[in-house]
Amino acid sequence: MALTAVGSIAFDSVRTPFGARERMLGGSAVHFALAARFFTDVRIIGPVGEDFGDAEFGLLDEAGIETAEIERIDGAKTFFWAGHYEHDMNLAHTDQTELNVFADFEPKLTEQARAASTLFLGNIQPDLQRRVRGEADAARFVALDSMNLWIEIARESLLAAIAEVDCVLLNDAEVRMLTGHPNLVKAAAKLIEAGPSIVVAKRGEYGAALFTAEDRIAIPAMLLDEVRDPTGAGDSFAGGFLGYLDSIGSDSISSRELKRAMAYGSVLASFNVEDFGTDRVARLTRPAIEERLAEFRALTHFGG
Ligand code: AMP
Repeated sequence: MALTAVGSIAFDSVRTPFGARERMLGGSAVHFALAARFFTDVRIIGPVGEDFGDAEFGLLDEAGIETAEIERIDGAKTFFWAGHYEHDMNLAHTDQTELNVFADFEPKLTEQARAASTLFLGNIQPDLQRRVRGEADAARFVALDSMNLWIEIARESLLAAIAEVDCVLLNDAEVRMLTGHPNLVKAAAKLIEAGPSIVVAKRGEYGAALFTAEDRIAIPAMLLDEVRDPTGAGDSFAGGFLGYLDSIGSDSISSRELKRAMAYGSVLASFNVEDFGTDRVARLTRPAIEERLAEFRALTHFGG
């Protein structure tokens, strides 16, 4: 089993009530891959600039992520995002987005990238997601993430991209915004009508809800003593969720397995938010994940 991920590969400057950091390694594909690597083989596709150096490649290589298809472009700059969080850390405020190398990126997938069983179209311009989707024709399970910016400025492209995938992961507010429906259950049903068979609504510190034509699943998030930087939590969730589903094979997806995948998503996201950027997930181990999964089970089991 193998997973190909496209999405931003970024430098992030972030301010939260617990501190500020400049130009940390980030991006949707990076946060995703760092979480998914515990379950399956992961490769990232995308461009970076000259400012993306040995330290950044080294971190990804050490994590066992395949970086051969990260294209370093001379004389250009890596995608950059600056944002901050107020007291309510469920809401990210974007201060700056510089597409840089992504502005004229033409994805060309290698044989190996196209052969992956699962494809993750991480948050990036939706036309780019569609182009990668078109190239990765062997993928048996395709999932897509996006954000409010693309709903605002590229709505039609995003809807076209969504029509071509099996699973959509969005924040609950984004599901409502995209469909124009205030009720989450009805909004998710509207998205399912548009093509995907699975819709996951991420709800920050309140967990996540999953909808299919037959199922409605809700899980909480871990209750943590320390939440320092939520950046990348959604992608870590997606990494745990899709990494687990890829490891069992898309033919085995049942409602029981979807619940388990949601639990892994929640566990990976819980590690992500404990420290800035990729700091926590980059040094995570599989035993620590299993230990927290047991805590998660205790938290969610009501024994009734
Ligand atoms: P999240 O999981 O939603 O917190 O995603 C955080 C990551 O999304 C950060 O590491 C950013 O680099 C990245 N990001 C922010 N805005 C965009 C955008 N417009 N396109 C692609 N990636 C973005």
